[in-house]
Amino acid sequence: MIALMFGPPGSGKGTQASRVAVLLGIPHIAAGDMLRDEVAHDTALGHEAKPIMDAGGLVPDDLVVRMIESSLNQPDAGKGVLLDGFPRTVPQAITLDAMLARLNEKVDEVISLEVPDDELKTRILKRATTEGRSDDTAEGLAQRLVVYRQETAPVLEHYSAAGTRIDAINGVGDIDAITDRIMEALRQNGAVAGTA
Ligand code: AMP
Repeated sequence: MIALMFGPPGSGKGTQASRVAVLLGIPHIAAGDMLRDEVAHDTALGHEAKPIMDAGGLVPDDLVVRMIESSLNQPDAGKGVLLDGFPRTVPQAITLDAMLARLNEKVDEVISLEVPDDELKTRILKRATTEGRSDDTAEGLAQRLVVYRQETAPVLEHYSAAGTRIDAINGVGDIDAITDRIMEALRQNGAVAGTA
């Protein structure tokens, strides 16, 4: 199964994607983590990405696409993948669809985490004190929310128009309870085996 974990900054995408990927037994491919890794290793890509990430912008599509394409071609991606933070623009989604079509695959499922803006702000500012991410500031969040609405929210419309299954999940509450909601939704719609 090719699934996307979708949601605004601070919605818990990364946390939920890593848990759900383990439960589904498929690799978790997180664009933001891969970019932070490039920054940490001071690669050419990391060097280009860091100021953009710190300002809450989006790294150019071609750079992110190349990075994701190489991980989709890894042998362990054969059983499926859970993509987190990619695609984040409609052009990225169109490129992903074409990449998957070449592998006779498509996006089967979009898990969309829904969290109100006030809660996102509280979570990001709390994460700033615990994880020390350089983009977790009030200004960084404000810019990431603008970018999310303008560039990323249309990706959901792209998949909705394509008839892809979209599960809207309430992303507020206990971390375990949210994981349960996601797994229950996947069971209900037949994406994973189990009683509904
Ligand atoms: P995340 O960890 O998913 O919140 O991503 C952190 C930052 O990495 C984002 O604010 C962007 O600057 C950058 N980034 C992550 N994924 C993408 C993507 N698919 N396209 C462009 N930039 C991205």
